[in-house]
Amino acid sequence: MLKSKLLRALACASAVFLMAGSHAQAADCGNTGSGFSGFIKAFHKEAAARGMGRQALSVLDGITYDPGIIKKDRAQNIFSQSFLEFQARMITDYRIKRGAELVQKHKATFARVEKQFGVPAPVIVAFWALETDFGGNIGDLPTVQSLATLSWDCRRPEKFRPQLMAALQLIQNGDLHPDEMRGAWAGEIGQTQFLPYDYNESAVDFDGDGRRDLRGSIPDVMASSANLLRKHGWQPGQPWMQEVRVPRDMPWEEADIAIQHPRSQWAKWGVKMANGKPVKADNFPASLLLPMGKDGPAFLVYENFTTAYLKWNESLVYSTTASYLATRIAGAPKVSRGNSEVTHLTYQQIVALQKKLAARGHDVGKLDGKIGVGTRAAVKAVQIELGMPADSYPTMELLSQL
Ligand code: CA
Repeated sequence: MLKSKLLRALACASAVFLMAGSHAQAADCGNTGSGFSGFIKAFHKEAAARGMGRQALSVLDGITYDPGIIKKDRAQNIFSQSFLEFQARMITDYRIKRGAELVQKHKATFARVEKQFGVPAPVIVAFWALETDFGGNIGDLPTVQSLATLSWDCRRPEKFRPQLMAALQLIQNGDLHPDEMRGAWAGEIGQTQFLPYDYNESAVDFDGDGRRDLRGSIPDVMASSANLLRKHGWQPGQPWMQEVRVPRDMPWEEADIAIQHPRSQWAKWGVKMANGKPVKADNFPASLLLPMGKDGPAFLVYENFTTAYLKWNESLVYSTTASYLATRIAGAPKVSRGNSEVTHLTYQQIVALQKKLAARGHDVGKLDGKIGVGTRAAVKAVQIELGMPADSYPTMELLSQL
């Protein structure tokens, strides 16, 4: 959930620094621990000026620069897996079974959550499974130290400094005690891994004990996750994803999450439900998602996927997996591997492809070895140029043609 959180934090980061105003030192950064204590001193002053009291400020006492966090941050970049690989690793029979049990166990809470926020239980439980194994693994690293280290690091301080301030705000609010400021390495807290900024903005006290507790209160976790999805544009009563079968040939360039057609159009092109039944031939808008191209698995996805899921996490592979797991918890059968075996390019091959696409003038974003939304769009453009089926998915054939 980290990446999208950071993007959203970025939107508010400039405002934070306008408010921080005259403090020149707050704009400084460093790639080692040198200068860290000066940064913390300046941050302490800024936080005090913004109304943080003694207890909130106390979490800055004695914190040190943590090179281990920097190492983890740098290592993130070499992660590259296909949807089928990632979902096989993340979606176990245990998670599906346990997820369905938890939907039942907490059904009264989920009924209240759905009534108020419009998000159905399986969607929330799937995030709960993927983020922390239903609360079993929320992380035990010191949040403030991690965020302070990433805030000082020059890589993207503008994204982490608002998170650090928000962490102090959570203590100031009485939502968390300083001892509870522990979680995953990049500052995520609680059972569905909220970054402090989202925690501060979107968490809900749903058990009525007067504080928003995303570590220990399941009702708070469920309602807050639903509230965040609703803020991301979740539309009550609408589907998010359905597995489908695609014909051997169709206008592949239409299979793009940026393109919607009425379901009747997909039906006309020969798309069928996974069980072989016809797609409902109505006007409801849907996109055709082929996470591994025309020969792999296929899904009709709806606004709830293309807005809310991708704002929770901008990684297409993660979002497809979370969304698919929610369908499994809701009772859908196992995904088909598609029409034939799809070979997923290696990290090095994807980077090579990204370089070639960039050299041809296509914007792929970072050369990160991941087949994200930008790389897929560039692949599609070049497939059209070369007269290949434009399904947005890179193959060895495409790489060798380039
Ligand atoms: Ca509460």
